[in-house]
Amino acid sequence: MNILITGGAGYIGSHCVRALLEAGHTVVVYDNLIYGHRGAIESINQHGGYTCELIVGDLHEKERLVSILQENKIEAVMHFAAYAFVGESVENPAKYYQNNIVAALSLLDAVKETNINKFVFSSTTATYGEPTTIPIAETEPQQPINPYGFTKLVFEQALADYAHSYGLGYAALRYFNAAGASPDGLIGEDHTPETHLIPLVLQVALGQRENITIFGQDYPTPDGTCIRDYIHVNDLAAAHIKALQHIRPAKGLKLNLGTGRGNSVLEIIEAARKVTGHPIPALEGTRREGDPPELVANSQLAQKTLDWQPRYTNIEETIATAWAWHKNHPRGYRQPS
Ligand code: UDP
Repeated sequence: MNILITGGAGYIGSHCVRALLEAGHTVVVYDNLIYGHRGAIESINQHGGYTCELIVGDLHEKERLVSILQENKIEAVMHFAAYAFVGESVENPAKYYQNNIVAALSLLDAVKETNINKFVFSSTTATYGEPTTIPIAETEPQQPINPYGFTKLVFEQALADYAHSYGLGYAALRYFNAAGASPDGLIGEDHTPETHLIPLVLQVALGQRENITIFGQDYPTPDGTCIRDYIHVNDLAAAHIKALQHIRPAKGLKLNLGTGRGNSVLEIIEAARKVTGHPIPALEGTRREGDPPELVANSQLAQKTLDWQPRYTNIEETIATAWAWHKNHPRGYRQPS
């Protein structure tokens, strides 16, 4: 299949690009490179002998998108390009509404105009806000508590309306905490600024930070720290490939992608100590605003619908793949100075 991947130079997008190429698909990446990395696509092409084209462009450029979709005979679009910093979305919601909704709608209209009927959207557990039932099933009410979650929910609603009125087939895949990297260390996670727990902990192991601050140890959880469901990025990629096969015209798949297992912040630090052999000093800090105590997926529906199972169910194994990347690329995709 010919597939356009927006945000394909980003963390989750690049792992999907690689998995799709390995599965024999033809991929065109569309990325404005604000957060994405040219180096991710270069690594994939050089390593695998692929010729995945990277087009540098913005989602606002609808007419250009229409031409790209037509010229490349695109049959499906996977839309990863989005801003995804919760804290920033609270400080600057306009940026999030502009990009994650307004610009994304011009992509959706380009898709509509070119009669493309398969659309896969990166949604998020943030659309659930503070869920009342753990593990979280798709039946949980979606009540986001920050602008980031709202923008993702609004786009999910646009997809549902386009499916109803224009016959679009789509999958909204609600990710829990993406983690890990390609096990061969070729591509991985590189955010500026880095805010995520696992890469920050590994930066301590690399000597780039002195310690990790634990955001709150007074949560109503067994060890007092927040629990999250860390799903390996390659398991996410595999679910995207399966979703492509299951999308049907005028229908939407809304699926949670997680492992169904939760790990606390303290457990992550301990697992990283084991994997890296580094003591990783930890400090007690205050709670971070907007962090629910526990987010764990019930992903039975995704498993059944897609005939998909997460392969990484041991957090140490997931962290080991992240470690392989960080050790090989201590400066991420930047060239060594
Ligand atoms: N966290 C932490 N210290 C950090 C970064 C994160 O204790 O320096 C905690 C955070 O409060 C959350 C968990 O680690 O409970 C995962 O956070 P992350 O930012 O990786 O993902 P999120 O759950 O926000 O999507």
